[in-house]
This record gives sequence, C-alpha cells and structure tokens, in this order.
Amino acid sequence: MASPRSKAADQLKEYATATKNGGALTSSTGAPIDQKLQSMTVGPRGPMLLQDFAFTDEMAHFNRERIPERVVHAKGGGAKGYFEVTHDITKYCKAKIFEKVGKRTPLAVRFSTVGGEAGSADTARDPRGFAVKFYTEDGNWDLVGNNTPIFFIRDPIFFPSFIHTQKRNPQTHLKDPDMFWDFISLRPETTHQVAFLFSDRGTPDGYRHMNGYGSHTFKMVNKDGKPIYCKFHFKCDQGIKNLMADKANELAGSDPDYANRDLFNAISEGNFPSWTFKIQVMTFEQAEKLPFNPFDLTKIWPQADYPLIPVGRMVLNENPKNYFTDVEQIAFAPIHMVPGIEPSPDKMLHGRLYSYPDTHRHRLGTNYMQIPINCPYRARLANYQRDGPQNVTDNQGNAPNYYPNSFNGPQDGDARKDTQPDLSVYSVSGDVKKYSTRDDDNYSQVTNFWSKVLSEPERQRLAENIAGHLKDAQGFLQERTVGNFSQVHSDLGGRIRKMLDDFKSQAKM
Ligand code: NDP
Repeated sequence: MASPRSKAADQLKEYATATKNGGALTSSTGAPIDQKLQSMTVGPRGPMLLQDFAFTDEMAHFNRERIPERVVHAKGGGAKGYFEVTHDITKYCKAKIFEKVGKRTPLAVRFSTVGGEAGSADTARDPRGFAVKFYTEDGNWDLVGNNTPIFFIRDPIFFPSFIHTQKRNPQTHLKDPDMFWDFISLRPETTHQVAFLFSDRGTPDGYRHMNGYGSHTFKMVNKDGKPIYCKFHFKCDQGIKNLMADKANELAGSDPDYANRDLFNAISEGNFPSWTFKIQVMTFEQAEKLPFNPFDLTKIWPQADYPLIPVGRMVLNENPKNYFTDVEQIAFAPIHMVPGIEPSPDKMLHGRLYSYPDTHRHRLGTNYMQIPINCPYRARLANYQRDGPQNVTDNQGNAPNYYPNSFNGPQDGDARKDTQPDLSVYSVSGDVKKYSTRDDDNYSQVTNFWSKVLSEPERQRLAENIAGHLKDAQGFLQERTVGNFSQVHSDLGGRIRKMLDDFKSQAKM
C-alpha cells in the first residue's frame, strides 16, 4: 500500500479539486493569451519576434522575481492566527490588545533560522527567530524575538561583525570555525547564549516545539500613565522537543525544509499549535536596586524573583495562502509599537529600533507598509507620508500633505486635546561616553544554567556539541574558549578540554 501523502505534498491536488476550472490565461495587462506553448518566430526555426508579448511580458517579470533575501533570518516559515486574552493585566498595560479577557486579536507569525541563506537547512544549530505581528486597532505591534530569552551581545555596535563571523569567510565563502570562535572567545558576554546554542535547545524539533521570548526588556504603561518594565514569554503548549545533534545533521541532508513542512502539515490537519503568553514585570524601584543591569540582553530575570504572570494564548490556525506575499514580504520591526508598549533603555533594542525598518526599506522599498501583510488594516491610517516608488494606495487622495494645517487634516493628540498621552514620561541623565560593557558579569547566570537547569545527560551533550564544533578552530582559539567556559564551571571547561584532547589523539592515530 502506498504511504499516505501529507497535506503539503497534496497542495496542488487540493487546489485542483477546489478550483475545477482555471479560466482564461492572460498577460499582465489582462489581455487573453491564445498560445502559450510556443514562442512567435519567423519560420519554424526562428528567429524570434519582439512582438511576442506572451514571452517578453513573462520573461521580464521572471528576471525580477527575487527581492534581496534578509541579511539575517533568511530561511523561514510562517502562519496566521489569533491572540486571546485569558488574564487581566490592565493594571500594567493599556494596550488595546489586552483590553479584556476573551478579546481576540489577529496576528501573523514568522519563524526562522538566523545565519543560513534562504535555501539553507531548517535543522541547523542556530537560534530560531520568533516574530509576531499583532494587528490591533491602535496599529500593528511587532514582537520580534527569538526562541531564547537572551542574545550573544549586549551592545549593537558588534552586530554586523558578529553576524559576519556566523556567516561565510570572505574568500572561501565557507563557514569558518576560526571566525566563529575568535569572535565568541574575544567577547565573553556571548557565553550565555552560546551555552543555549550548543545545548539541546539549539536544534529544536521544528517550530512547534519551542518557546518564544521577546528577549529584550520593554515597558508597559497603564491608563494612568504609570510605566513598569516587562519581559514577554511564549511558552510552547505542545511541549519542548529537540533534535539530537545526529538527527538534526541527518535531516539537514534528507529534509532541509523539515520545520516548514511540519508547521504547514500540522495546521492543514487542524492540529493548531499554540503558546501560552506570559509576562515578567519589574518596577522602576526594583530595577534601580537590581545587582545587574536589567536591560542587558545577555541576562534573564530570575523567575523566582520576577514570576511569570499569565496573560493569554497565541493560536496558529491558518497557513499562508501564498508564501511570498505572507512570509517573504512580511516585515517585522521592534519599533512598531502601540500605545501601552514602549522601549526600555536596552541598547540592543535601540540598535534594532533603527535597523529593522532600515533593512525593510532596502529589501521591500519605501512603501513596504502598504504591502497587505504589513498594512495596519485594523487601524485608520492617516498621516502626511506621500508618494514614493511602488505606491499602490490612493496616496491619501486630496487630503492636505503638510502639518500643521488649517484644512482638517489628521491631528496629533495634543491638538485633539487627548487626555491620554500615548507615551509615558521618564528622565535619564549621565555623561555622554562610549561605555565598555565587556566584563559586565558574563558568567554567573551561565553557571546557574549549567549547575541548576541542565540535567547530567544535557550537560554532557552541551560539552560534546561545543567540542565537536570547536575542534575545527585553531589551537589558540580553542584555549581561549576553554578558558571562558572554565569560568562558567571548571567541570564544563574540563570536559571540553578532555574531548578536544581526545579528538587530537584520534587524529594522530
Ligand atoms: P528557573 O528555574 O525559574 O527557570 C529556568 C528556566 O530554564 C525555565 O524557564 C525553563 O524553561 C528553562 N529551561 C529548562 N531546561 C532548559 C534547557 N535545557 N535549556 C534552556 N532552558 C531551559 O530559574 P531562573 O529563572 O533563575 O533561571 C536560571 C537559568 O535558567 C538562567 O540563568 C538561564 O540560563 C536559564 N533560563 C532562564 C529563563 C528565564 O527567563 N528566567 C528562561 C530560560 C532559561 P521551560 O519552562 O521552557 O522548561
């Protein structure tokens, strides 16, 4: 008996069943095309005629089919769904999405790997992007996180260099373990995230079995204008499941689209993945007294001190109709916030507030917010932005295009005498300087992770996964890296060193 085909495998069959008759084929101008199985030539052997619009129209479009791939997070999959409030947090946050228990807000999600190109394997050891776009009545809120609550660096000035070391050598165009471990070992603030990356959670079993985190510290503001710092957590309802390193490597060859296939099939079969959404909150007073920087993206907030507070549930129940329109063109930006959600001083977040819209303007163009998947369709959009390449709206018609004006153009909150200012007020002071953050306690939380969170088999696999990758770097880089991991715990450093020695002895045999 033939094995049953999956929903993904049967996509075309299902289209044909639902469509019955495709109707007339047309050119891009809508004119019917008579013959599409042969080009127009002078005589049966050619040459061709430029008047063959069925050919030139399609060929010219095909030549321009690719848009630049994302410089990071190029390979991904996505889905649509909704967020439902299960617990009241209005005492912390006035955002409309959290208005009342039971309220549902539509959303779109994109999951991704980080370092690989658009065609790379889903099962690579890499953090996973976990980006959510909530379509609220107050505009779109993008929560653009990862499957880890932390990141490699705490100052965005390192981001381009860091990513270069995770991608390809400028001459060989190969992944380069020297580049990788050189940067990691020179910047020990990476140690926490590197420990996550080489643990079992570095190779999650598809996108449905991993947590998501907003990662940064944000601010929530309530209707009285009172702010509180917060972190966002999506806890996976399917349970965490990871691939062992051998299995992940095997799948990278046999089914490089493993995670996309799994997500598409699960949703098609009505097996909708969901995540429980929780927050941690920290008052400004608590933040002042905290022994570490609460805005440091390489650190978590201990859950015993800042317990998880349940808020709602995210459900993914709809596959994209078209990958390009719904997944390739979706553009997330942490600066896409709504009243009630604000940035904290986290400098990594600030780097991203600038960088994401900038890259989308390059990748998709100035009017990227007009693309249907990005458009804040549940809000009334009214502003003074006009024109630009590829404008596909009515360009706000005959409304005035400058502000202020005396002719009934849209007005800001001050002019409308809105009693609810959108932004909270806060004060900062300090000397303007480039502050080094290199030695800002890089190890104590990683020590907790090693000693208290991981089981013994997980510790052994963490050491094996690190050594298995580090063995390909030069000796002095191995030494420096082992030195850093020894500061997490002498046992971790010792295990890695022993494994590296074993690799060396085997190589001599
Ligand atoms: P807790 O014991 O309260 O929390 C530990 C956290 O670790 C849980 O959120 C759990 O997430 C997660 N976890 C469990 N197993 C693993 C694993 N194999 N790999 C990665 N994460 C795992 O302790 P603390 O809050 O004090 O944190 C202790 C250490 O745990 C931190 O230093 C950090 O390294 C790590 N951690 C902390 C998180 C946080 O937000 N506080 C989140 C994730 C990790 P789950 O419920 O999904 O199993």
